[in-house]
Amino acid sequence: MEQELKTIYETQIIDIQIMENEKKLVSTPKKIEKMDSDIKAMQDKISKEKEILEELEKERKRKEKDLELDKEKVKKFESKLYEVKTNKEYQALLKEIETAKLMNDKEEEEIIEIMVKIEDLKKDYESTSKLLKEKEKVTEVEKKKLLAEIDSVDKTINELKQQRDNLLSVVDKTLRETYNMLISKRGGMAVVNVKNGVCLGCFMNIPPQLFIEVTKNNRLILCPSCNRIFYFTEASQ
Ligand SMILES: [Zn+2]
Repeated sequence: MEQELKTIYETQIIDIQIMENEKKLVSTPKKIEKMDSDIKAMQDKISKEKEILEELEKERKRKEKDLELDKEKVKKFESKLYEVKTNKEYQALLKEIETAKLMNDKEEEEIIEIMVKIEDLKKDYESTSKLLKEKEKVTEVEKKKLLAEIDSVDKTINELKQQRDNLLSVVDKTLRETYNMLISKRGGMAVVNVKNGVCLGCFMNIPPQLFIEVTKNNRLILCPSCNRIFYFTEASQ
């Protein structure tokens, strides 16, 4: 019996490794997903910036056209100055010219403002695009690595399961079934040591008489508190 208890204790070490590898199988695809969504966020940012840039360019062109038309207007007014007959008409025309010129100045300022905005946005757009390209390259390599890891984890799990089944095949049926039931229920801790009369699975005291029995390792004894299988070793756990 002692050998069988030792065997399931060793099986548990393998089962813990299986669980750790299975965790990787869940976490690695999540890592890949996160990488993809980071790239997507950058792509979205860039295309948004591009849209805004295009809008600003359109606005700039529109304003330049308006400015041109208004400049024409000023020229027309100015040419009329020589045709007016009365001083009153002359004054009125001067006033119109002044207003139109003020309007032109305002439009010019607005065009400059838009150009500055375009310049800034272009810089940002270009640096983000460059960053994205680099990130895409790095992510591609990293993803390949992670995918290869998933493959190797799959292989490792299969090998570990084989080892586990081999170990359990020589163990008594009741012990094996108890172990299998506990390992899934108790999150990888089905077999526990006892130290100074305390169960190292649930840290509850066990009756002194039972403790003596446990140290003999000659039969299947479950912890009265947590129902785990006792296997006594001098080694600390
Ligand atoms: Zn216990």
